[in-house]
Amino acid sequence: MIYNDTIAAISTAPGVGGIGIIRVSGLDAVEIVDKVFKAASKKTLKEAPSHTIHYGHILNKDGRVIDEVLVMLMKAPKTFTREDVVEINCHGGPVPLEAVLMEVIRNGARLADSGEFTKRAFLNGRIDLAQVEAIMDIIEAKTEVSLSQAVNQLEGKLSKQIKEYQDMLIQIIARIEVSIDYPEYDEDEPLAEDFKDDIRALNDKLKQLLATADTGKMIREGVKTAIVGQPNVGKSSLLNALLEENKAIVTDIPGTTRDIVEAYLNIEGMPFLLLDTAGIRETEDIVEKIGVERSKESIAQADVVLMLIDSSRELDQEEIALMNELKGRQVIFVLNKTDLTPVITQEILKAYTGDQPIVSISAMKQDGLNELRQAMKNFIVNKGISIGQEATISNQRQKQSLVKAIESLDKVGDTIDMGMPEDCIAIDLHDAYGHLGNIVGEALKDEIINELFTRFCLGK
Ligand code: GDP
Ligand code: ZN
Repeated sequence: MIYNDTIAAISTAPGVGGIGIIRVSGLDAVEIVDKVFKAASKKTLKEAPSHTIHYGHILNKDGRVIDEVLVMLMKAPKTFTREDVVEINCHGGPVPLEAVLMEVIRNGARLADSGEFTKRAFLNGRIDLAQVEAIMDIIEAKTEVSLSQAVNQLEGKLSKQIKEYQDMLIQIIARIEVSIDYPEYDEDEPLAEDFKDDIRALNDKLKQLLATADTGKMIREGVKTAIVGQPNVGKSSLLNALLEENKAIVTDIPGTTRDIVEAYLNIEGMPFLLLDTAGIRETEDIVEKIGVERSKESIAQADVVLMLIDSSRELDQEEIALMNELKGRQVIFVLNKTDLTPVITQEILKAYTGDQPIVSISAMKQDGLNELRQAMKNFIVNKGISIGQEATISNQRQKQSLVKAIESLDKVGDTIDMGMPEDCIAIDLHDAYGHLGNIVGEALKDEIINELFTRFCLGK
């Protein structure tokens, strides 16, 4: 795809940084920058070889120096957008940066929309949709592990895997279509039976990939961790202790945490999204009731639940009921306030919790927090999350397309079992191929593409 206009934007984060970069991309990028840039060498960029750096000054229309710059010249097609790209490294702070951008625009470039550079890279075939999403994930990465997952995806791990599966499908489709077009070619063999095994094997691989969706999402968005328990057991205190800041309001009036407080916690590179919920309690108070319903909701959505118990007082009926509700869930029981005289011990608690893990802490004295972090990390380790080894599905859009591909292949199996003609089989195989293609963004609708790129920030 060839665009006629040349776009420009500040591509570094706003603020008073040491340097800022203005990125210009398009047919006239080199010509436009040549109009405002005077190289110390007196040569124009047009004459210069690609992928070179040039020192000089940006001048305004009166010939006055706006900034001293380094210009990076990258001619098509080996660039991010596959167009001519010129990057101007300014170092004068935000004001000259804006002024340089204005000069570039005055000379014929257009201010880029959000995500427009990435969009051009995508539409020019430089990257696929999974990689576009990876760029977004890199910008938003919560921790080192989230970042490395996104980088893997940008490097094309998922894309390559999908391509491989599409190639396997094409082989099968080709064999079927030959048998449709030339029935005499293979007439005495029940052909469908032949590739039934191949299709099942492929479908198993797709299902394995689908199984990475949960962990992929956790790595991207954080392991959803609901902190639950009766009012006043110390949920907000624990959240604050873990975060080492006063994010949640701590009081000793039962039921103060009226809403869910969310915060990210980084445990050895894994992101956890902590949710402090209102005390689980039947109540007549409307405001608190909403909070209680939310906390039930957040338990339902959580990947792991931290249930807090106050070790300095007896268990009550609601607590015991909640412990029963949490049977079979991923839960860590946290016995808090161990600085006070114990009424409840781990031994007593074990009668209710079975072999689910229990950790003793004092949120107030910040005791036992390392053990708790370790228990949370074990949850990840036990899930067998391995980073960087394989392709992972990392968002809902990719997951839905994969599920549809699997459904199509499941249907192929049924169709073969029912002895349906081969052209019926071929239709479902083509469907599966298309759904796989959607993961990497082949033939996606314009609206979806536009929606996606508006989520980017300017200059990317
Ligand atoms: P929440 O309602 O479960 O969120 O409980 P809060 O975090 O608001 O704490 C309720 C009260 O218990 C506050 O007065 C806290 O200071 C106190 N508290 C919390 N953790 C501890 C602890 O480890 N030891 C002691 N002694 N008090 C605590
Ligand atoms: Zn609270």
